[in-house]
This record gives sequence, structure tokens and C-alpha cells, in this order.
Amino acid sequence: MQKLSDRKIQNSATISFDMVGCKLNKYELEVMRTQAQKLGLIPVNGVQSDVVVINTCSVTNEASKDSRRMIHRYRRENDSAYIVVTGCYSQTDLEEVKAQGADLILSNFEKEKFFDFIRVDIENLDLKDNSFTTLLNTVEFQSRPFLKIQDGCDAFCSYCIIPRARGRSRSISRTEVLEQVNRLSRIYPELVLSGVNLGQYEDGEGYGFLHILQDMVKIPTLKKIRISSIEPVDVTDELLDFVLGEPKICRHLHIPLQGAENNLLTQMRRKYTIEEYTNKLQRIKRHDPSFCLGADVMVGFPSEDSSVFDAAMKNLEAMPLDYMHVFTFSSREKTVAERMESLNTPQQRKERNRLVTELSHQKKKKFLESQLGKVLPAVVERSGESSFQKALTDNYIPVILEKSSDDLSLQSVSVRITELGSDKVFGEIVRDCKD
Ligand code: SF4
Repeated sequence: MQKLSDRKIQNSATISFDMVGCKLNKYELEVMRTQAQKLGLIPVNGVQSDVVVINTCSVTNEASKDSRRMIHRYRRENDSAYIVVTGCYSQTDLEEVKAQGADLILSNFEKEKFFDFIRVDIENLDLKDNSFTTLLNTVEFQSRPFLKIQDGCDAFCSYCIIPRARGRSRSISRTEVLEQVNRLSRIYPELVLSGVNLGQYEDGEGYGFLHILQDMVKIPTLKKIRISSIEPVDVTDELLDFVLGEPKICRHLHIPLQGAENNLLTQMRRKYTIEEYTNKLQRIKRHDPSFCLGADVMVGFPSEDSSVFDAAMKNLEAMPLDYMHVFTFSSREKTVAERMESLNTPQQRKERNRLVTELSHQKKKKFLESQLGKVLPAVVERSGESSFQKALTDNYIPVILEKSSDDLSLQSVSVRITELGSDKVFGEIVRDCKD
């Protein structure tokens, strides 16, 4: 924690939140928002609030730049605000953040104790309930809560700043996780398990990710659980046996591939081959062709010359993936890849990103076409004023539904996919789904 000014916060001050980055950052922002409400602060949107909390990211150069711009903009447009900066960028570039006028900087390890750090600066604080555990238990989520069970990573891929920004892997105890699942599953029909590297979950020797999953699905109120992302090395035969046979686990896995060619994978220090990765995908698709498979793919890694990229494209074309999130390599300080000579140009990186993105669109289209007319389990999201509602199927298709007369928000339903628009999928509710 770095306190950089003497500014105080008035009782019942307004507070706004902004962020750059991943789902984990979003989850942590929700935790902080709930804690702020417990402190009597009033959440609002926009720049002109009394307190501003910015959750930053530094996973790519772009993310660092966006984080820097965001802090700068808030300070420029609201000189009197009490600005709290947290997240990976404030961890990796602390001196830069200090120079931008933050009042309080919290590390990644400190942000979930936001409550404790900020309360000391609130004048005349009148707290009725100051238990941190109670606060964690009352986080409000829009539609599906992200349950963070693990943080940090021990893998040290050659391009990645995460082990430095978020530290080594650590896990929430199984007792706490199961208590949270028990409580949240009474309210929400679907929970999303999240972490920086979920496969590294561990609560004592021999108790890993598979074991926490096995214990979770025994909770009678749990309807569906979605695994946000899992590294290829952790998709073991044993884990797949369980996931494919367990109806409470959503039929969707996001398995980061990153390098789509074997030499690339070696240079990236990723510990699997294209053949091993592809075999896992094929096994899943053989079991269930409607199971949705996604991946992160990186283009422009230093050792990716034209022939390596051509081979990577061929591999990607052949893989039974349904979508890809495409990233362009950006050199991060103090990583192994920072010292590698680049065999590609900015122009080539841009073009490769475009080509893989285009391939991803084609794969997604093909997957959606294969689902047309199918009836799929889904969860309806909380709806606003519009006459449409959105639902997400268990195999990760966002579907637009005409709003029914009953409020189906946060309900498990069955949805038939009726129409594919250019970038939207339409459907209808078939019947209430009680499972
Ligand atoms: S697995 Fe590799 S890419 Fe993913 S967070 Fe860990 S070090 Fe980074």
C-alpha cells in the first residue's frame, strides 16, 4: 500500500469504478464496489465522483498504455478526486503510477482488502458491520458470479508478465470455496470458476482442481458451473473423464493454446505439443460435437518467421476450435522473450492478427450453424427495460430472446436457436428447464 496524499473522504461520498483487463479484474472490481457500499459510499458512473477506483492491467503494452491513459484522464478531469489505483499495471510500473497523481495505490494482493485500506480515510465513519468476510459474502453480481478460487501463476511462460505482476500461485481453501458455492448457488443458476491459472489450484498435497470440482458438484443447490479457462497441461484424461461425464459442468472449455506450432511452443516455454493439444480437443468433440472449444492464440512471437506462421495457420485450420481470442505479442520487461530477436515486422504482426481473427470468425460461424434448430440449456441474464432478453447457453452461445411476460431473469431455461444474424443469434424459449 502506498498512501501518496493527505486527502480525506467525506462520509457518503460518491465513488466510481473503472478498469482495464480481464474477467478477474472485473470480479475484483465487484468485490470492491460491494465493500464501498458497506462503507456508506455511493456508487455512481463517470468521472466526476468524489472517489475513483481504477483497476489496471499490464498484460500487453496496449493494456499498460490504456491504464496509464485512464489514470491520466481521471486526474485531468477531476482534480479534487481521491484516486485509488490498483491492479497489475500499478504493480509492474509503480513509479509511473506515483507520478500520475494517485492518492492511494494498492497491490494486487491488497485490493480484496480495499475495505480496510480505505476506511481509515473516511471522515466520521459510522460502520454497522465491519466484518470483511460478511462483505465478501454480499457481493452483488449481474448475472453469473465469478468465483475466484486461485491467483498468481508458477508457469513462467517466456513472454508473460503475470507471475511478476500477480505473484506465485496461491489458492482459496476448499472450505471457503465450498461455502461460497453453497451460498451463491442458492441465488444464481450458474457460477463461473475463475483464477489466473485454475489448474494450479491446490489446497494441501493431493487436493487439486479436479478434487474441488468433484466436491462442488455434490452440493445439491448447484445447477451449473463454468470453467473460465484451463491450461492445456491441466486438461488431463482424468479431468476430461470427469468434465465430460458431469452434467453440472457447462459444455464449454477455453484452453489457451498461444503458439500454434511446436517450435513456437518450445520457445514460449509452453509444456505441450500441437499433437497433444489437438488430441485433447478431438477427444472432447468425439464425445460431444456441441461442446464449445475456444483458445487464446498469440501471433508475432519473436521466433515466428513466415514459414513458422504458415505452419501455425495450417495447424489452426485443422484444429476443432470454435473460436479464438487473438493477441499480438508485445514485449514485456524482464521476460525471457524481451531479449529475443524478432523475426517479424509490425506490418506482418498486424496482418497475422487479421488472418487468425478471420479464421476465428469462420470457425465460429460454422459452430453456430451446427447449433441452428437445437434446443440447449441456458441461463437468462438480468434484463433492463428493453423488450429483449439475453441468455447464455451452456455451450457459450449468447442468444437474444423476445422478452416473455414472466420475468425469467436468472432462470435456467431451454432455448431453441432459431436464427443467425450477421453478428447475433436469436432464439426462443422452449420450456422451463428444471435441471
Ligand atoms: S500459464 Fe503462462 S501465460 Fe498463463 S499466466 Fe502463467 S505464465 Fe502467464
